[in-house]
Amino acid sequence: MTDSILYEGKSKYICAGKDEYSLVIHYKDTATAFNGEKKEELSGKGRLNAAISNLIYKFLEKNGIETHLINVIDNTSILVKKAEIVQVEVIVRNTAAGSFSKKYGVDEGTALSNPTIEFSLKSDELGDPMINASHITAVGIASCSELDEMARQSLIINELLSGLFIKAGISLIDFKLEFGRYDGRLILCDEISPDSCRLWDTGTEEKLDKDRFRRDLGNVLEGYREVLRRLESVC
Ligand code: UDP
Repeated sequence: MTDSILYEGKSKYICAGKDEYSLVIHYKDTATAFNGEKKEELSGKGRLNAAISNLIYKFLEKNGIETHLINVIDNTSILVKKAEIVQVEVIVRNTAAGSFSKKYGVDEGTALSNPTIEFSLKSDELGDPMINASHITAVGIASCSELDEMARQSLIINELLSGLFIKAGISLIDFKLEFGRYDGRLILCDEISPDSCRLWDTGTEEKLDKDRFRRDLGNVLEGYREVLRRLESVC
């Protein structure tokens, strides 16, 4: 694709789609962490994340979750519905890890009695701070009913994906979702991949996700390849 770039993010860039209702998303090989402070090119990451996210999105669509995915174009590009992205990230956790462990002093790997949901403001400038529901409605980022709908869908997605991953011998520790407004509905947007989830081998608790990059654990893409291989065997 040689279309001009409408928007370039840290791990993807976006071009015009086939009409005013669609866009083309291209996955890049760039890996970033800590709000872009750590950055590296990992050859093949774009292809792996695209393949993993596409499998997951097709699985979710089959199970009644509407997503932005229209069709796969090639190894690193997809055609998607052009939605207006809600400017919050929804983070769902099943097991304590990362910022949750740090903030609340709960050991990494501690199972949580119920899934938790939190929102972060989508702002690189501000470092994606956590934001609560009353803040979100107060400043007009989303309405109460939109927040309820995002939380409702996020918990269903958590159930569906936890079940899918467990069949692949992977524990879904936590993950981040984004939603967009499309034709009066809220639909799932962005990617679901080892960049946006914590995925641990269920037996050994080996990390198969971006923490390999964040924490310099090595062999980053081997983890991603393993996730794809296992998902392919259960999808
Ligand atoms: N996450 C993400 N994008 C973000 C922040 C978090 O995809 O901008 C994902 C992250 O990969 C993890 C989950 O959301 O699977 C929870 O991340 P956490 O809040 O623990 O932050 P981190 O420790 O990654 O800074």
